[in-house]
Amino acid sequence: MVDGHHAMRLETGVTLINALSGEHVHGRPKPALGGHDLVRVATEALGGDGTGNGQIDLLTAERLRNLAARLREIIESLSRREHDEAAGLLNRMLVDSKARPSLQRHGEQSWHLHFHGPEADLVQQWAAGLAVSVAAAFGEHIPHRVGLCAAPRCDQVYIDASQAQIKRFCGLACQNRVKAAAYRARRSGS
Ligand SMILES: [Zn+2]
Repeated sequence: MVDGHHAMRLETGVTLINALSGEHVHGRPKPALGGHDLVRVATEALGGDGTGNGQIDLLTAERLRNLAARLREIIESLSRREHDEAAGLLNRMLVDSKARPSLQRHGEQSWHLHFHGPEADLVQQWAAGLAVSVAAAFGEHIPHRVGLCAAPRCDQVYIDASQAQIKRFCGLACQNRVKAAAYRARRSGS
């Protein structure tokens, strides 16, 4: 079972992938992001509002976009059931991100486990944490837990938290779109 911290980190990872990578969403082309828009979207994906502590600069946003692209590559190979390729990509990400377990405490907080050293910057922290969380989920049938939307012209990534693990679409928008197309096809075929 993927524990709470890994599950929370995976959710942020999926948000990053969908916000910063991919070419289509819900049947429409996704606009390319740059400059202020890229910074705003990257900040929002990490849960910040673009002001104060959550603020990130353009270089950081571009590095987060690279991270999202690498994660997408892993999820896409998993969804094609190319597990050897996914494991290779993931192992490389674990090395590149210098992921390593380390107990840390901040101020009065209790000691807790991080997957990066104290010197890591924001992007290195996310890269290391996400590499470990995706690797932890890998042995837990992640091919059924994280998927790519099956609708045409949509490459959103989703997490399937249901027991049955039968989710195929990123959400109702795409599910309804595919249902409507199938209905139209049946009517015109009869
Ligand atoms: Zn979709």
